Amino acid sequence: MRCPFCGTLDTKVVDSRLVSEAAQVRRRRTCIHCHERFTTFEVAELQMPKLIKSDGSREAFDEDKLRNGIIKAIEKRPVSSEAIETAITRIKEKMQATGERELPSRWAGEAVMDELQQLDQVAYVRFASVYRSFKDISEFREAIDRLESSSAELQALKKDKEDKE
Ligand SMILES: [Zn+2]
Repeated sequence: MRCPFCGTLDTKVVDSRLVSEAAQVRRRRTCIHCHERFTTFEVAELQMPKLIKSDGSREAFDEDKLRNGIIKAIEKRPVSSEAIETAITRIKEKMQATGERELPSRWAGEAVMDELQQLDQVAYVRFASVYRSFKDISEFREAIDRLESSSAELQALKKDKEDKE
């Protein structure tokens, strides 16, 4: 692999480990020539289903577009890049697991919301409000209720755990 700093082909792997729930291999490489270090990621290349937009047109799955949407929702929130990558990997795996060649883009949107809800509640509401563009207040209310009931569940779980300790 070519060194991105000096261009020589003489680089070697000094460390390699599994990341993103073993969906990626992260390799630390060092250049024999200039001794700079850099990282590469290895992922399986899989065929993604196409997305069917609401007007019926088809669109190729675009991972960067997905990532940008998630990053925008997560802006200034305490979520690590690794957690974002793991979420993206899970969304892709879910899409592939359907075995479909085409999926409604709405389906992908829902998958993103499921992930965001687990990552960060604020990011979830941000994404949901843009994505669904809440046709009326009752839809928004519904999302908030979902949030409240899931945080109530969390509180109950915490309390349960504390009681046992
Ligand atoms: Zn080099």
